[in-house]
Amino acid sequence: MDVSPVGVLDHGPIPCFQHTAIYLLSTSMNEDAQRGSGRDAACPVPNCPIPIDLILRSSDKVLLGAHKANLEHFSDGFPSVDSVSDSEEPVDLTEDSATLKLLLSGVHKQKLPTLSGLGSKQLLGLAEAGEKYFVYGVMAVCSERIRAESRMVKDEATAATYFAYAAKFGYLEVADAVAPFMIPFDVDTMYDRLKGYDVAFLAWMRYREQYVAISDILTRNYTVPELFNVLGFVPCSSWALYLNGIRKKLPMSVKGHLQLIGANFDRLEWIFDDLQDLLKECTCERCYSAACRWKEKWKQASLNIKPFSSFV
Ligand SMILES: [Zn+2]
Ligand SMILES: [Zn+2]
Repeated sequence: MDVSPVGVLDHGPIPCFQHTAIYLLSTSMNEDAQRGSGRDAACPVPNCPIPIDLILRSSDKVLLGAHKANLEHFSDGFPSVDSVSDSEEPVDLTEDSATLKLLLSGVHKQKLPTLSGLGSKQLLGLAEAGEKYFVYGVMAVCSERIRAESRMVKDEATAATYFAYAAKFGYLEVADAVAPFMIPFDVDTMYDRLKGYDVAFLAWMRYREQYVAISDILTRNYTVPELFNVLGFVPCSSWALYLNGIRKKLPMSVKGHLQLIGANFDRLEWIFDDLQDLLKECTCERCYSAACRWKEKWKQASLNIKPFSSFV
């Protein structure tokens, strides 16, 4: 029996495991499991004395022994005693064996295994499995770890996996920490990644719109009075030079601006600061202030950006 996979990014809402049939081992199968094939289906907790009455098979075809009572006690995603039928068949799950071993360790009366050695992909895999099967201890320890790591994320790929997890399962602090990395992603990509989570997708759209407004500030043709604060003023030739320089350096599209901005405004700031050199020949003594006013307009908008969570 297959249970639909739930990837970090590529899948829709999680199917409720309680609505899927699950197969228990018969008593004789249980005894077999303890002897022959059961050796391959040991409980991942070393020296666990609890009898195995359910065998799970991971996506990489590793058999793992589990205890129905523990699954019921420590999680809500596995079926109740009455809702299962007996079978000698192992239950196929879409998680890999490394993830399932950690998940099953989390349904015992013991401290959860340390997660410090896990890479972000494994950590997310375990976190999603915890959410899928409602293994509360695993959910808590994973979300806490991800929360700490989300503040140190530096690349878009990791941010994207954290963001999808956080947006789907309502970890808004994590979502806020990595949301700026999501700005360069196009709408279709994010729609795919948040498929089935319309509230999260709409919140991301509204969050992104704040950056689109900044793109408007960058491309708007400001009049001389708007930037020079003096009616009828004619700036010296440096201004045209500066304006040209900025126009050449800035991308020509909204998409280009969003990619330039990315997770922070550093690159945009460098462009504006670098080109101030073009104003050093200014003879009207107002070009520098005008350049500062222009920069101030997008900078102020960037400071006013509301976090992703305010749109949820
Ligand atoms: Zn056990
Ligand atoms: Zn000037």
